[in-house]
Amino acid sequence: MMIKPSKLNFGTSGIPLRTENPSTENGIKKVHELGLDAMELEFVRNVNINEDKAPEIKKIAEKENVILTCHGQYYINLNAEEREKIEASKNRIMHAAKIAYLCGAYSMCFHAAYYMKQEPKSVYEKVKDSLKEVTKKLKDKGYDIWVRPETTGKRAQFGTLEEILKLSQEIENVMPCIDFSHLHARTQANNTYDEFNDLLRLVENKLGREGLNNMHIHLSGINYGDKGEKNHLNLRESDMNYADLLSVFKEFKIKGIVIGESPNVEVDALFLKKEFGKIE
Ligand SMILES: [Zn+2]
Repeated sequence: MMIKPSKLNFGTSGIPLRTENPSTENGIKKVHELGLDAMELEFVRNVNINEDKAPEIKKIAEKENVILTCHGQYYINLNAEEREKIEASKNRIMHAAKIAYLCGAYSMCFHAAYYMKQEPKSVYEKVKDSLKEVTKKLKDKGYDIWVRPETTGKRAQFGTLEEILKLSQEIENVMPCIDFSHLHARTQANNTYDEFNDLLRLVENKLGREGLNNMHIHLSGINYGDKGEKNHLNLRESDMNYADLLSVFKEFKIKGIVIGESPNVEVDALFLKKEFGKIE
């Protein structure tokens, strides 16, 4: 059974900075101790948990009441020129999803592809074919986890909200990971109350209430230029309009996980949770 969250949860991207003896286990305990709800396993460079270890992580997360998500590897391009690179990308997605599932995780997100100067439409079709294959294989093996292509921050990267929502409509077990900071950076817009409202309205139109009840969100401050994302910033050192975004979350009564991706990790995750709690 796929996990469905009962409220909007807040968590860290990786192990909190103030974790003594940093490890996944100690990170989960620290997240609980801080009063946060979730932690994203950072498999961005490599999947640093093996099959034997995963059930232990699952046990600790259950005991500490911490929801886990995972971020797949950066070295993924489902639109690579070389066939082997596409196969390697599919395997990376499957491996991260499998280990995340064995850790009891709710969902697995990743950056799907680069356009490589090709038509977005044909790139979409390639990404869709690969994802269909990947999710089918995962399902056949019983690895029941939401697979979530993410809205990306650079214009050269595949991953507009429209593309990600369409994949979610067309492929079973695929749902969006919406990184609002990336959407802001890639469009140099999407940072006002009305725009956030439009974005969530679009999610609702395409995926229904189900979409709003099953969100995996990334949020941080962000530095950007003409090509989009440059680097993440702490929220209060950026122009990210988190206050209006949180209000819109509240109005749409969304459920799911918000992962704070600021460099200060737990500081902004806690800040977001606190600010969200204050909204009437
Ligand atoms: Zn990401």
